[in-house]
Amino acid sequence: MKNIDTDQLLAASVGAFEIYQSTPFLKRADFLDAIADEITSLGDSLINQAHDETNLPVARLVGERARTIHQLRMFAELLREGSFVEASIDTAIPDKNPPRPDIRKMLFPLGPVVVFGASNFPFAYSTAGGDTASALAAGCTVIVKGHPAHLKTSEMVAKAIGQAIAQHKLPEAVFQHVSDTSFETGKQLVQHKLTTAVGFTGSHSGGMALFQYAATRPEPIPVFAEMGSVNPVLILPDALSKQNALIAKQYAASISLGMGQFCTNPGILITVEGEGLPEFINALKEAFKAVEPMPMLHAGIHKAYQEKLQNALAINEVETISKIDGSTKALTPDPVIATVSARNFISNPALAEEIFGPYSILIRAENMDELKAAWLALKGQLTTSLMGTEADFEAYPWLQDTARSIAGRIVYNGVPTGVEVCNSMFHGGPSPATTDARFTAVGIDGIKRWMRPVCFQQCPDYLLPDALKEANPLKILRRKNGKME
Ligand code: NAP
Repeated sequence: MKNIDTDQLLAASVGAFEIYQSTPFLKRADFLDAIADEITSLGDSLINQAHDETNLPVARLVGERARTIHQLRMFAELLREGSFVEASIDTAIPDKNPPRPDIRKMLFPLGPVVVFGASNFPFAYSTAGGDTASALAAGCTVIVKGHPAHLKTSEMVAKAIGQAIAQHKLPEAVFQHVSDTSFETGKQLVQHKLTTAVGFTGSHSGGMALFQYAATRPEPIPVFAEMGSVNPVLILPDALSKQNALIAKQYAASISLGMGQFCTNPGILITVEGEGLPEFINALKEAFKAVEPMPMLHAGIHKAYQEKLQNALAINEVETISKIDGSTKALTPDPVIATVSARNFISNPALAEEIFGPYSILIRAENMDELKAAWLALKGQLTTSLMGTEADFEAYPWLQDTARSIAGRIVYNGVPTGVEVCNSMFHGGPSPATTDARFTAVGIDGIKRWMRPVCFQQCPDYLLPDALKEANPLKILRRKNGKME
């Protein structure tokens, strides 16, 4: 859009960063809490706006708002605790040969961060979502490009952040919101010389486009893109024979949850022909009957789902286990579970592509070798799940290492949907699930995406940042001469 002046946005962001980066951690923590309070005080008007724009049920939106507020408060607590700067101190050893100088290191914020809001989480991965909360906690300034599918919701949240900025007398441009629907503005924001990092949740094509823009800058910057994943689920032989009905019920619900519009949707189930398979298929069919089709997030997502679904079902030997007609309501998908042999799956890479929506395909392998081959035919994933008994895990000890090579989170006897926001969560994975498998988009470690280490050698104590001063005035946990203290 012609009206967006990215030079002005980024200049303001840098100006604000110069001040904001050195705000005390406690003040930053109070600011994040104030954003949470402001969002809460928007009450039902925010929920209703998001409901109008996204078709997501009110109960789901209420839960997502709670998650967003929890994330903001979680980062506030992290700031109060202070060890996120990873202060590390190696004191001088003058009589070492050669002598060791005093060396100290900690993390510092990068600078202005551009965040692309996600369509499927209008709160938790959008304007004041995980990327924004973690970047503000790090001490970065943020420019959010609101997602066109819920622009008004995004603007309401942006105003709430603005109120919190005013309350805490921070520079206005600590947070800026761009209401625009053109790729060109997104490209300009990523390529602007003052932008220091990018956060994105969305399609593989979108994430990779931003990654390419960033990589071709004269000074490349990191793009943390969380893209598609089919989240393979292995149903192991002993579990299949003993727990088929239970697993079918769990998975019918997980596949259709939120009309499958989650990056953790279980798009591929892999099992072995044998005892319990016919019962599993019947139970899956039965449980899936209860699914009530509901409108998807936007017309583009609905169209892409129906087209990709048709293409997958047209592939040789792909059979439908269960299909529910959603065509009676606008933007409503046909939830589907299909099945195919592992041999056919391996020879048709198109079947391994994500179909974003209420769809999953059951891959039937002849034996565990074929199951492993089908699993390994998949590329990097956010999650992979193992449905097995102790006997299964004993019989196939290679499962965990293989799972680890594929995904960032391994789920044992559970479903991948429902990503807990907590310290130990990791939401990321090898390419193409993300552009950098080392970092998470959920949980406290998300802050590390927006910080970089700086080392101080022989710096006089009075010139050191507080986190590195000998007396430890912030009273934070630090690594000193190799020991945490
Ligand atoms: P999207 O198409 O990837 O768009 C997300 C954001 O990225 C939008 O703001 C869009 O800009 C921007 N963008 C996309 N391509 C771009 C490009 N080439 N240059 C510059 N900016 C670009 O995501 P979506 O609209 O949410 O859904 C489309 C598909 O994404 C879905 O069907 C699904 O497959 C996938 N998806 C994945 C996840 C996930 O969790 N990984 C979440 C949601 C969707 P504009 O504002 O200008 O449109």
